Amino acid sequence: MASAPPDSSRPVFRFAPSPNGRLHLGHALSALTNEALARRFGGRLLLRIEDIDLTRCRPEFVEGIETDLGWLGIGFEPGFRRQSAHFDDYAGALASLRQRGLIYPCFCSRQEIRNAVVAREAVTGRPWPVDPDGAPLYPNLCKVLGPDEAERRIAAGEPHVLRLDMAAAIAAAGGSLGYTVFDADDVRHVVQIAPERWGDVVLARKDVPTSYHLAVTVDDALQGVTHVVRGRDLEAATDVHVLLQHLLGLPTPLYHFHRLLLDDDGQKLAKSRDSQSLAALRNDGVTAADIRRQLGFA
Ligand code: GLU
Repeated sequence: MASAPPDSSRPVFRFAPSPNGRLHLGHALSALTNEALARRFGGRLLLRIEDIDLTRCRPEFVEGIETDLGWLGIGFEPGFRRQSAHFDDYAGALASLRQRGLIYPCFCSRQEIRNAVVAREAVTGRPWPVDPDGAPLYPNLCKVLGPDEAERRIAAGEPHVLRLDMAAAIAAAGGSLGYTVFDADDVRHVVQIAPERWGDVVLARKDVPTSYHLAVTVDDALQGVTHVVRGRDLEAATDVHVLLQHLLGLPTPLYHFHRLLLDDDGQKLAKSRDSQSLAALRNDGVTAADIRRQLGFA
């Protein structure tokens, strides 16, 4: 398992793909940016497999990630952390938030949330607010359930997620919070977070005892990550991670957000949109050197 010794003085970077499809050029850009910045700052580069989605993640995609990254010749430290092997770590973080009354169970289906949003829009005549990813903010339906009813429904085995009580969490974290962004020349600036724009985010899903936000926050701390290099599509989500770091007493790494590659139609490359995979490019005779050159890392 690749984990940073606590006394390590070298910066620690990580590339953290999800094995729910083959890697595409956008992943190559992210991995190569991590590699370039890790080299520049004398850092270590860890690989983490973000496989909490047990229905969509598959072992052959983990193998694919290893093959593709090996082909690109990226200098990772050997071994990798696999999130599905660490559900206990996330449970520990949830227990600490629960103890302070910062999370609550939510039994709503997507349809129930949609219906509630439509009903409120009908009453107010205004569009219901959406989060930075465009999803409607949770209309707090289960936030008002009494503890007895919530306990009864959990005991009856009703599927539920755990949501962060965002207002309570921001109050508990206290004061205005921020994080530091760095660039390739290590020029830094501080940005303030605005996690309230996400509403009561899910910290544990119905099927797994964690969520992307919780797992990524806990893992970055457990792996001693000092420099998070990720795409601009995750810039807004960073606000949730920084809030969680404060609530859980974890250090806040430095952050760098790299550009996104767009398809010809201006959309972000995505596995779900069949963006051309590195494996397909390789089969077509494209070399790792071609990819590095194309992405500006020659
Ligand atoms: N696993 C996330 C993804 O594949 C990225 C991890 C992160 O930087 O937070 O989009």
